[in-house]
Amino acid sequence: MSREPILQPTADFVDDDRDLRPQRMQDMVGQREVYARLEIAVDAAEKRGDQLGHILFDGPPGLGKTTFATCIPRDLGVNFQIASGAALAAPKDVIPYLTNAEERSVLFIDEIHRLPKAVEEFLYPAMEDFRIDLTLGEGVNARTINMQLKPFTLIGATTRTGLLSAPLRDRFQMREHLDFYTIEELAEIVRRNAGKLRVEIETDAAVEIAGRSRSTPRLANNRLRWVRDYTQSKADGRITLGVARAALEMQEIDVKGLDRQDRKYLETIARVFGGGPVGVEAVAHTMNLTVDTLIDEVEPYLLRSELVVRTPRGRKMTAAALDHLGLGGTASPAAGEQQRSLFG
Ligand code: ADP
Repeated sequence: MSREPILQPTADFVDDDRDLRPQRMQDMVGQREVYARLEIAVDAAEKRGDQLGHILFDGPPGLGKTTFATCIPRDLGVNFQIASGAALAAPKDVIPYLTNAEERSVLFIDEIHRLPKAVEEFLYPAMEDFRIDLTLGEGVNARTINMQLKPFTLIGATTRTGLLSAPLRDRFQMREHLDFYTIEELAEIVRRNAGKLRVEIETDAAVEIAGRSRSTPRLANNRLRWVRDYTQSKADGRITLGVARAALEMQEIDVKGLDRQDRKYLETIARVFGGGPVGVEAVAHTMNLTVDTLIDEVEPYLLRSELVVRTPRGRKMTAAALDHLGLGGTASPAAGEQQRSLFG
């Protein structure tokens, strides 16, 4: 029944996950409350023949913000354009997207917290009244003209809602927070995606991959792709529990799903800063990473799994983290035992 929309992804958007990304909201796993609310909004907009209200998604990377944003226009049967907040440095950069936007179409701006203030302010009348104010000429000859836009839907995604200005945040009719996934949900994603990759997988192997994926679908997909490669190269092409474990162990992904970078973060706090508390900037400098990478990509899961806590004086490791690294007990386990306890 629905029309296939013509996609207009911009040159800077390369979907490296096309083969596994769900195409419709109903194909997405988990996030049921978010899905239920969006389904109502999409359904009502379709019935009215109106544009959908603007939507803001927030949450850590890899949890489905882009997926929701690209499924919604398909469910609505409308066109969509994709832009990145980092690439929209000035109002002139955003004008083509706004003037190209067709009636009821979707403009998705990823990393919307990176828009400079001037671009944010330029968007206010576009979001509220579907109008932009263009200044022509310079100095005393400058004049402002209003340009009417087609009613469209802006979907924004951010890993850092705190960095959005309140006026921009308030112009979104719906704000949806995406949370981490359960192991059951991730196992379901792994099982379905093994099917898409045309590889056989045993149920307990799907659960094992899910358990080592830090509650994040993007990581579950990455791990699955690696396990698939490993299986096809080293085993008989069928993903069993043993093969999944061996593959993930080779990639140094441990039983808690921590990778080398996560463990390096914990080890840095333990070794260099005596377990903390330590400011995130100091950890980032020592690891030669940006503060944003630590805050957006490394810390959310470590905080959530209570391996690190935030204190007024900085980050501090918990006893669970020391145990996990094999530094917890009175007697430090031998290297081989440490290895086994981490990788299961
Ligand atoms: P974000 O935009 O939040 O960083 P994405 O939407 O790009 O994350 O999600 C990363 C990948 O994880 C997607 O390509 C998709 O394959 C998978 N994914 C995310 N959410 C879901 C979901 N709810 N169900 C199934 N797969 C999902």
